[in-house]
Amino acid sequence: MPAKQRRVALMGFRSVGKSSVTIQFVENHFVDSYDPTIENTFQKTLKIRGQEYSLQVIDTAGQDEYSVLPQSYFVNIDGYVLVYSVNSKKSFEVVKFVYDKLLDMKGTINGVPVVLVGNKCDLATERYCDNIQENECDLPTKREVTYEEGKRLADSWKVSFMETSAKEHHSVTEVFTQIILAIERAEGNNPDQNKSCILS
Ligand code: GDP
Ligand code: MG
Repeated sequence: MPAKQRRVALMGFRSVGKSSVTIQFVENHFVDSYDPTIENTFQKTLKIRGQEYSLQVIDTAGQDEYSVLPQSYFVNIDGYVLVYSVNSKKSFEVVKFVYDKLLDMKGTINGVPVVLVGNKCDLATERYCDNIQENECDLPTKREVTYEEGKRLADSWKVSFMETSAKEHHSVTEVFTQIILAIERAEGNNPDQNKSCILS
């Protein structure tokens, strides 16, 4: 089977970790500083459920609530990874704005492959406080968006959701697996079915 060519764009507020997630995925390392103003396209081949994909990842320079999205973000893009940072409420608002813009451009977002990603989950320290009284936990929690808030938003969009850490390589590959599966579903394929299982 030839490799399927797919193009996905990472979008979201500046500094949420779009470049870090991309570079961790493509090159397997964490970049501590990366020019935030440049847009770059990366290429990586991966295999999901027996199918080879040649994936182009467009790491956009980022958006805010005033951004006018260029036409190039709407043509020849198969799927969108909308990234916010769990320590920034503002970035959570920006993904909603970007989603609405996609909706405006596409007329309907039904069938437009999207995944929602809450990055920098390593900064959310409350998991260390699980077994102690809240007021006894003096670790600073930098979390501004709960897991449940992210999940609820993704559910309302009917898309996959995950929290990631580009820094700790947590769930980074999963992001790209999920967007490819969402693209397959949008194309009417059922990637969840085991193709090699022939009943007759
Ligand atoms: P972009 O503007 O969305 O592309 O964000 P960058 O990838 O340039 O990251 C912005 C800053 O956040 C950089 O200093 C990164 O090192 C940092 N960063 C990115 N991802 C993570 C993460 O998962 N955890 C932590 N703690 N910092 C991160
Ligand atoms: Mg960047």
